[in-house]
Amino acid sequence: MSSFHYIYKCSACGLTWPPERIEPDRYLCPDCGKWQKQKPLEGALRIEYDYASLRSRMDRVRFLSLSPGRMWEYPELWPLQATTKTDEAFAGIARSRLESFALPQNQLGAWELDGARVEFLDDTRNLTGSFKDRASLLVALKALQLGIREISASSTGNAGTSLAGICARLGLTAHIWVPAAIPQGKLLQLVAYGARVYLVAGDYDTAFDIGLEMAMKHGWYNRNTGFNPLTIEGKKSAAYDIFLASRGSVPDMVFVPTGDGVILAGLHKGFWELRELGLIETLPRLVAVQSERGDAVCRYLRTGKFEYIPATTIADSISAGAPRNLFMATQALKETNGTAVAVSDESILAAQRRIARETGLLVEPAAASSLAGYLKLRADGVISADVRALLLFTGHGLKDPAALERWAERPPSRTADEWRKLLSDKSTDARD
Ligand SMILES: [Zn+2]
Repeated sequence: MSSFHYIYKCSACGLTWPPERIEPDRYLCPDCGKWQKQKPLEGALRIEYDYASLRSRMDRVRFLSLSPGRMWEYPELWPLQATTKTDEAFAGIARSRLESFALPQNQLGAWELDGARVEFLDDTRNLTGSFKDRASLLVALKALQLGIREISASSTGNAGTSLAGICARLGLTAHIWVPAAIPQGKLLQLVAYGARVYLVAGDYDTAFDIGLEMAMKHGWYNRNTGFNPLTIEGKKSAAYDIFLASRGSVPDMVFVPTGDGVILAGLHKGFWELRELGLIETLPRLVAVQSERGDAVCRYLRTGKFEYIPATTIADSISAGAPRNLFMATQALKETNGTAVAVSDESILAAQRRIARETGLLVEPAAASSLAGYLKLRADGVISADVRALLLFTGHGLKDPAALERWAERPPSRTADEWRKLLSDKSTDARD
């Protein structure tokens, strides 16, 4: 019998596996798992706990007194808990390191928008400025626990910068595979953190496949999103943070920027667990928001068929032609009575501008897609103003200056004398 408090369960065939069969170098279901180039992963694994036992011990009032952004306060729901003496020593180290990795506690905010009160979860102020820190942290701690010092990740940018930053803090080596066209801010972040950066001539799907191939060849622990089950597991913390920050009252709908579909699957896992534990009754409806220039999840939900079409959206973080977590993501949409919506790149940039001007938060285009999706469903009459909606703001705007330059024009430069002269005439608009 396994001494672990969790198991791996295949999302496709339903078989369960003890951690000894999976860790450290298996990631997909040993029975039906399959990785193919430019295709969604088959047999992705999900981590599960003994929910009946946890539920019988669960105290809702005590749980609600925990702080958002501090995952170590409920270690029984993470696959890191000590089971041996060595692990106990590790748990002590992990806890002290986790405490220095706390996410901001005031991530939940709201603003008045076209007659509605819209909420948001602001992940732009995480350690490396993106939602991906939630997954990277768990993966890096697992690598430490397994005694592995090198981790590889393929990324559009944020997952890589996130892993690179966290590896820098933990003294681990990060191997990061990214498209050569990665936004400037993200590339500089990677180099600054001291990661080994491999720029791939091609798109994210190409970087995903070569990164995975090289990680397997060299025996590096792998953080490719959707492939390593801990990437899905790590992202569930957003559901817990929403639950805790809103004092147990979760929204009706959550708008999720969607590329590979892992945030969607992770968020669904978190809300599903909260229900299994008897902490909430209904799952929020999840909405996958994609760009029209990278809409594989929307198409799959509509037709039930996957067709590879390269993604070309300006919102690089959701630019995935082959969403690796496609099957779990669409399952999450179906189980929550959710939906998927594709928006234009122009509406994403307009939403980015509006968020900056109305909330003071500068988010990257992928993050702004959540607002564009919400506004589209409002305009189409699919939802009304009284729906309690929450938008995920998944990445900081300064990571991609080129996208900002599309609408934030550089002001003119003048000498002090020129400004003095210009502003002495009150009828003149100084910006002309
Ligand atoms: Zn399977």
